Amino acid sequence: MLYLSACLDLFFPHYCAGCGVSLRHFQKALCVSCLSQLPRTGMHDQPDNRLERLLWGRVSYASASAFLRMPKNGEVHHMIHELKYKSNQGIGVELGYLFGTELKASQRMSHFDYVLPVPLHPKRLKERGYNQCDPIVQGVAEAMGTYCQVDNLVRKAYNASQTRMSRYNRWRNVESIFHLRQPQVLEDTHVLLVDDVITTGSTIEACAKVLSEVRNIKISVASIAIPNV
Ligand SMILES: [Zn+2]
Repeated sequence: MLYLSACLDLFFPHYCAGCGVSLRHFQKALCVSCLSQLPRTGMHDQPDNRLERLLWGRVSYASASAFLRMPKNGEVHHMIHELKYKSNQGIGVELGYLFGTELKASQRMSHFDYVLPVPLHPKRLKERGYNQCDPIVQGVAEAMGTYCQVDNLVRKAYNASQTRMSRYNRWRNVESIFHLRQPQVLEDTHVLLVDDVITTGSTIEACAKVLSEVRNIKISVASIAIPNV
């Protein structure tokens, strides 16, 4: 029992990923207060929402939605930081599950054949130990009762830190570094491509460009968070 409890702590540390308070044993990654105050966007029921406008003309999407608004230094910012830099994969699973539950009940985004994470380069994967989008995809797929596919879309080359690049250079940098190992598996399907945060959309654009070469594929896009503007 102790062993089991220690294992669960690895995935679900006993503090809230949003505000840091101690969690009760039955709580997963978020406290009741953070859970009840998640700044949901409701985008999945809004055609022409902010994310769709960001991607318009760049990605040939069926629909797109970001689950939460992310003000700088707010709780959602903290959750994403926990997911990416503190090995807290439990918050990814929990947010993914909450998002998937809303998507399944939505008018526009209730069904997909596969949920795919935006891949992380092997070098960064080795440093971090996991792709932060994998637990999100796991939660989304579980809530929606659909399949996830974490090893088909892959990233080929290491790209230098993008933070100081212009939007054009960022796009050039990621343009040709993704590829599909088994494109035929995705023929005639509707896929949901998932990232943790979408800021400029350049990574999603590059992934979608590769996916769009698959015969008769439909692509939708989702992210857990979108920065406040
Ligand atoms: Zn909290």
